Amino acid sequence: MQHVERHIAGLFPEEISERLGGRVPAYRARQIFTWLQKKAVSSFQEMTNLPRELTNELEDLFHSVWPLTLVTNRLSRDGTEKYLFALAAGGAIETVLLPEEQRQTVCISTQVGCAMNCSFCATGQSGFQRDLAASEIVAQVLFVQNRLKQEGKQITNIVYMGMGEPLANYGQVLRSARLLNHPIGLNLGARRLTISTCGLAPQIRRLAEEDLQVNLAVSLHAVDDRERSALMPVNKAYPLAELLAACDYYTERTNRRISYEYALISGINDSPKQAERLAELLRGRLCHVNLIPINPVGREARPSEQRIAEFARVLERARIPVSIRKERGTDIEAACGQLRRHEVPSDV
Ligand code: SAH
Repeated sequence: MQHVERHIAGLFPEEISERLGGRVPAYRARQIFTWLQKKAVSSFQEMTNLPRELTNELEDLFHSVWPLTLVTNRLSRDGTEKYLFALAAGGAIETVLLPEEQRQTVCISTQVGCAMNCSFCATGQSGFQRDLAASEIVAQVLFVQNRLKQEGKQITNIVYMGMGEPLANYGQVLRSARLLNHPIGLNLGARRLTISTCGLAPQIRRLAEEDLQVNLAVSLHAVDDRERSALMPVNKAYPLAELLAACDYYTERTNRRISYEYALISGINDSPKQAERLAELLRGRLCHVNLIPINPVGREARPSEQRIAEFARVLERARIPVSIRKERGTDIEAACGQLRRHEVPSDV
């Protein structure tokens, strides 16, 4: 069943107008949208150029500007910040801010839990609860933007790499991307948005046909079907050949470079032979490889620095562009694969 967006943080200006029964002029709906999506205000009362009756009506209709509240936040030694949110509609999610000098990246969740069950990822281990609505996806960004604004900073990049599989919640994820991309909202260029998928081939093809130039990241992690299926059950539904064919179609349609993520696990997928096979798989493709030293959540172990460097060298020699992802926020369990479902006490 198609989810119907009910909360204002997930609505376009025309839809805000509709929800108000068409009783306010169109420019008012655009003002409201800009307060919400660009100025990232934390309450309707801060929308100071609206008539008081209208802000009151908005409060009655929607209760709050964001359908979530902060439960706790943790700050890492490296500046990474993790937020735990309780959702008004139930459940809890985590969001991560990755500050750098020139860029402020927010890593957002798209589902409560995850159904994909990758063996090395903490999110999947507590199962799947539900998809997020676009408003719940966007509100993570607006909450962080509200905080950054007070320090005179701005969000510059969004990665859909938090909890959940974005392409399994396709409609709401795309709606959220279009809201973040909206010219009178945050107006984040589509190229500043990166959607990461475990490899849902049909949805990759569908994404190729949208008129939205987002970056696509594909979690590969293994170079043959037997090995990949052992790590990622999704590979049984969409094996490598099918996945790579969908990726080729994506590149063909969009001319965009795909980022392949490869989490290096000692003794599992980190041998020079596997690096060579990876280079073979990607040869001739418009791509970039992102090596992620595994953040152990179970029995996995991270390869030595030397082993990681050797893996990267094999790819470089084959002229495959490669980078090693810098580890961030491990001390606060905010790194890749460490976000998990939390039980939020009912009294928060
Ligand atoms: N479901 C999406 C996005 C979420 S995960 C996807 O699979 O792409 C973001 C990235 O972190 C993915 O590449 C994922 O495979 C990787 N990841 C998951 N667990 C990890 C871990 N324990 N260590 C390092 N990377 C991990």
